[in-house]
Amino acid sequence: MNDNDQTPKTIGPNTQLVRAGYDPFDYHGFINPPTVRASTVLFPDAKTMETHGQKYTYATRGTPTTDALCQAVNELEGAAGTIIVPSGLAAVTLAFLTYLSPGDHALVVDSVYGNVRHFCDTMLSRFGITVEYYDPSVGVAIEALIKPNTKLVHLEAPGSNTFEIQDVPAIAAVARRHGAVVTMDNTWATPLYFRPLDFGVDISIQASTKYPAGHADILLGTISANAEHWKRLRQANGALGICGAADDSYQVLRGLRTMGVRLERHRTSALEIAEWLEKRDDVARVLYPALPSFPGHEIWKRDFKGASGVFSFVLTVEPNQDFKTKAQAFLDGLSLFGLGYSWGGFPSLALHVDLSDRRILQAPDEGPLLRLHIGLEDVADLKADLDSGFRASQK
Ligand SMILES: *Cc1c(COP(=O)(O)O)cnc(C)c1O
Repeated sequence: MNDNDQTPKTIGPNTQLVRAGYDPFDYHGFINPPTVRASTVLFPDAKTMETHGQKYTYATRGTPTTDALCQAVNELEGAAGTIIVPSGLAAVTLAFLTYLSPGDHALVVDSVYGNVRHFCDTMLSRFGITVEYYDPSVGVAIEALIKPNTKLVHLEAPGSNTFEIQDVPAIAAVARRHGAVVTMDNTWATPLYFRPLDFGVDISIQASTKYPAGHADILLGTISANAEHWKRLRQANGALGICGAADDSYQVLRGLRTMGVRLERHRTSALEIAEWLEKRDDVARVLYPALPSFPGHEIWKRDFKGASGVFSFVLTVEPNQDFKTKAQAFLDGLSLFGLGYSWGGFPSLALHVDLSDRRILQAPDEGPLLRLHIGLEDVADLKADLDSGFRASQK
């Protein structure tokens, strides 16, 4: 920020999104930062080279483009430092590799993003790290699960596909008292609707692939640390040589500028559709923290500033009807909702959720679970499309 910066001390979230991370007068007044594609950075003389006496030394350690995104995410998360990695999955795995060593024990929420479980059960177990899955509703009772070698507690709230809300401040306080680092995957809420570090979390993780990128065309992840844990994260990042590309970082920074208005639209459309689904006889249950009927709603209301556009619902089945056949008939009846993984982009998406890898949580028994991402289309069109799905599933 330049000296005559007139930004007021407290600014609204959308104002912050528009300004965060980059001062146009650092680069001739151009509104957006340059996309610096780089490996080598030149030094003016041998002495500067020997002492690394300048801001940039090699592009794995950052460029003006990646710095602008890191700085923006720092401001949004209230973090001491942020690193960029090539995907949301890499953001979680790198955080685990940073803080875990052979012989350690980690507690990971059972509603964790599925590929993280795969990483824990294959790579981490090969490295001699024990991972135990816990019930998202555990709260302060997490204390009973902590062992002398518990070094990390991982949260994700709401949980992937089933959207359980966790009592983040309660779990974080217990974990920290026992000397475990607290990591949280905050992809669903984004720092706009929840700031993990304000609730006692040490490391906040985002799949920027989702709402920050916003256009279903970028893979990127960010890991943001508080002051206590930043140095070790930065060292691990340097040791592993995992970094984000300039073009992707540029696109995610560009996406952040409009993330507030996009999320507002995802949020209001998702709530309208969730309420509409909840009233139908062919829907057994809607799993969306913004609905008062959802078990975690009170904690969500206490801690979160908003809800994003992805949620699930349970389709009602007739006695003896096969769940998978019913779910696939519904999905094949849709034409505006695309069938695809990920979410957070402009188009609506749907899929049949597979919960077979859960250790503690049970899949709903009333019928198949379908996940929707409500995109930026008109709500009336999306309801009409879902109506077609319901009709197709009745045949
Ligand atoms: C999508 C997602 C990820 C992984 O992000 P990618 O960029 O697709 O690897 C991680 N965590 C959560 C909660 C996600 O939804």
